Amino acid sequence: GAPLLELEDLHVEFRTREGVARAVNGVSYTVEAGKTLAVLGESGSGKSVTAQAIMGILDTPPAFIPKGEVRFKGRNLLRMPERERRTYRGRRIAMVFQDALSALNPVFPVGDQIGEMFRVHEGLSKRAARAKAIDAMDAVRIPAARQRVGDYPHQFSGGMRQRIMIAMAIALNPEVLIADEPTTALDVTVQAQIMDLLGELQRERNMGMILITHDLGVVADVADRIAVMYAGRIVEEASVFDIYSRPAHPYTKGLLESVPRVDEKNQRLRAVEGLPPNLMRIPSGCPFHPRCPYKQEPVCTTERPPLYQIGPGTGAACHFWEDVRAESQAEFAMHK
Ligand code: SF4
Ligand code: MG
Repeated sequence: GAPLLELEDLHVEFRTREGVARAVNGVSYTVEAGKTLAVLGESGSGKSVTAQAIMGILDTPPAFIPKGEVRFKGRNLLRMPERERRTYRGRRIAMVFQDALSALNPVFPVGDQIGEMFRVHEGLSKRAARAKAIDAMDAVRIPAARQRVGDYPHQFSGGMRQRIMIAMAIALNPEVLIADEPTTALDVTVQAQIMDLLGELQRERNMGMILITHDLGVVADVADRIAVMYAGRIVEEASVFDIYSRPAHPYTKGLLESVPRVDEKNQRLRAVEGLPPNLMRIPSGCPFHPRCPYKQEPVCTTERPPLYQIGPGTGAACHFWEDVRAESQAEFAMHK
């Protein structure tokens, strides 16, 4: 069927006194019901800003959306009156953020905070909202929900607090769930548990999910497809298997090499060398060229690579994607 959510040529910029920061520069992607798209990139790559544009929380200066569409079941959310837009935000499209501790109010029991969703949006009484809050806590597998509904945020572990945030996000049965670095603040074991939970909820409820992360390691089991962002653009899009086994963009290849292998678990993460670009002065030609080991002059410094189509829904924004992919594939075969 038609995709749930479609981004087309989305641009977002921040107009500040120092200049214009071009945070998102022509992003297009689709999210289907029952599928998970992982959006991967370093901080400043535009992945969170894109999500904020989808949520409609970027409509005030200094943020501007000079171009592009965000369509939900064919309707452009960016051209919708705020009154109507509000009926989507949190209800049909919901978001989970990274920092559960600061998002929860320390002075109210968690049950009241979850229940607030039902009071505000569905006009339920306090008692009915609390009953629904218990159901919501059950839904995210918080043990002994009935006993714990009156507890305060600090009485829960970090992982349990993130479950509470997820309970709030899915309370109104959204069709699209956006999770922005949902496990970054948690330790590795808990990260895996939260990812599993998100995957289970996504399948149970047939939601379309956007999973934003800088860590390729945590999304492999949950994602169907991966879009890699750099300098506000998608530089590679492919299935999880293709991304892992034959990345076609040098940046993706670098990210993959920075994921520790099973046999070197205790080694520090090696980041992709070099610094992310200044969004007020994005490099000419290919924005990745200052960091790219495959760079060839003058083409890489003068010609901006389009997202070359490799196959259906598969593409890479590199002039030399064929060489990069062939090399990746050979290395993958060797390591297996
Ligand atoms: Fe590297 Fe050139 Fe490809 Fe850009 S276009 S990623 S600089 S090889
Ligand atoms: Mg972010």
